[in-house]
Amino acid sequence: LTNQEPQLFGHPKGLFYLFFAELWERFSFYGMRALLMLYMVNEIFVALAEKDVAAAAVYASYGSLVYASTVVGGRISDKILGMRSSIFLGGILMSIGHFVLAIENDIAFFLALAFIVVGNGFFKPNISTFVGSLYKDGDRRKDSGFTIFYMGINIGGFVAPLLCGWLAAKYGWHYGFGLAGIGMLAGLIFFWSGIKKNVFGDRGLPPSQAVYEKKILGIPQKIFVPIVAFLCAPLIAYVLASYKAIAGGDTFLGDQNYVNLIFKFIGVAILIYMGIILYNSTADERKKLIMALLITFFMTLFWGFHELSGSVITLFADRNVDLDGIMNASQTNSLNSLVIIVLSIPVSLLWAYLSKKNLNPRTPYKFGFGLLLAGLSFYILSLSGNNADENGMVPFAYLFIMYFIISIGELFMSPVGLSKITDLSPKRIVAFMMGIWFLSSAYAFQIVGFISKQLAVESTDVNVGGLDTLSIYTDGFLLIAKYALGAGLIVIAFSPLMKK
Ligand code: GLN
Repeated sequence: LTNQEPQLFGHPKGLFYLFFAELWERFSFYGMRALLMLYMVNEIFVALAEKDVAAAAVYASYGSLVYASTVVGGRISDKILGMRSSIFLGGILMSIGHFVLAIENDIAFFLALAFIVVGNGFFKPNISTFVGSLYKDGDRRKDSGFTIFYMGINIGGFVAPLLCGWLAAKYGWHYGFGLAGIGMLAGLIFFWSGIKKNVFGDRGLPPSQAVYEKKILGIPQKIFVPIVAFLCAPLIAYVLASYKAIAGGDTFLGDQNYVNLIFKFIGVAILIYMGIILYNSTADERKKLIMALLITFFMTLFWGFHELSGSVITLFADRNVDLDGIMNASQTNSLNSLVIIVLSIPVSLLWAYLSKKNLNPRTPYKFGFGLLLAGLSFYILSLSGNNADENGMVPFAYLFIMYFIISIGELFMSPVGLSKITDLSPKRIVAFMMGIWFLSSAYAFQIVGFISKQLAVESTDVNVGGLDTLSIYTDGFLLIAKYALGAGLIVIAFSPLMKK
C-alpha cells in the first residue's frame, strides 16, 4: 500500500511543520521557565523573609496548573474545537502571557502566568495528538516520528535558556521574557504555514461542524470557548497571586493554598471520571486504558524529581555551583535538552536494534530503569558536597553528570510514553488521554512544591551560597535519590505482572 500523502525524509510532511511549531512553543516555555525561579526570589518576592518558600509555592502551582489545563484543552478539542483551532487558541494565549510577563509589575506577573496556563492547555496536548494522527494504526514509523518531535521540543528547550538567560543577565529580565513571546509567535506562523500548504489533509478539523457552530447564549461555540478561555485567566491569576497580598506587596500568605486543595479535588474527580470511561469501554479498551494509567503514574514520579531542575536545581546552580565563565544559573536549564538532542537518536536506534533481536524491553521495564537513572543522578549530585571549595562551591561537572544521567532516564520514558498513549487510547478520547498523560506532570509539580519547600534556604542575601546552604541541598539530594531508586526497583519488580 503506498501512502498518498507528501513525505519528507520518510515521514509525513506534516511532521516537520508540527516539529517547528512545537520547537518554538517550547522555546517560549523553557526560555521563560529558566528565568522564573530566579526572577521570583530576586524580584517578585525579594522583600519577603520566606522568599524561597513563596517562590517554590508559586513555581509548583504554576507548573501544576500549566499541565493540568491540558486535560480540559484536550477534552474541548475532542468534543468541540478540533486540534487546529485549539492549537491556534493556545498559541495566541501563550504569546499574550509571555508579552504580559515583559511588563514590570506584580499583577502583570501573575496574569501572565495565568495566560500561559490556559494557553498551554489548548496547545500542548493537541499538538502531541496531532503527531500521532499523522500515522495509521500500527505504522512502525510512529515511534521514530515521536522521537523526531521530541528532538524539536528539546532544540527549543536547549536554545531558549541560553538566549533568554543571556538577555536577562545583560539587559534585564523583561527582555528575556519578551524573547520568549516572540518564539511563541514564530511557532504559530509555522503551524499556519503548514495549514496553508495543506500538509495535514483533513486532520484536526472540528469533530462536528454542527457542534462547532452551535450557539450558546447566542454565540457560536467556536467563539464562546475562546471567550471563556480568556476570562479564565484573571481567575487563575487571582488564585496564583494568593501567595502575595498584592496591595501590601510583602506579605506571604502561607503555603497552604488553594492550588493544593484544588488538586486533591481534581484528583478524585479524574479518578471517578476515568472509572466511568472504563465502565463504558470494551474489555480490550479497558485493558489498554489501565496500562495507560499505570505508565502515567510512573511518569508522575519521574517528573516529580526531574522538574526540580527549574526550581531547586536552578537555585543550587546559582548559589553553590562554580559556574565561573561557563554559563549563568538560568542557562544551566539548557543542559537537560542538550543531552536529549545528542542521545535521542542513539537511544531510539538502540530500541530498534534490540527489537530486531527480539530483546526490546517492554515499556514497564523501560520506565523502571528510567526511575533508577533519576535516582542515580541525584545520588551523584549529592556527592558534589565532597568536592566543595572553602566557599561551598562545587565543580560544574557534578551538575553536568546529573543532567546527563537523568536525561537518559527521560529518554527511556517520556517519548516512549507519548507514543504509547496514542496507541493505547480509543480514537474518540485520544486528546483527553493525552491530557491525562500530561496530568502526570501536573501532579509531579505538587511533589516538586513539597520538596522545594523542604529545601528552601531562606537566607537574606540570596547569592551567598556557602557551606551552610550546600549541606541543605546535598542532604536533600541524597534523600531524593533514595526515593527514586526505591520507586524504580518497585516498578521493575512489578513489571512481569504488567506485561500481561
Ligand atoms: N520536556 C518535555 C516537553 O516539554 C516533557 C515535559 C513534560 O511532559 N513534563 O514536552
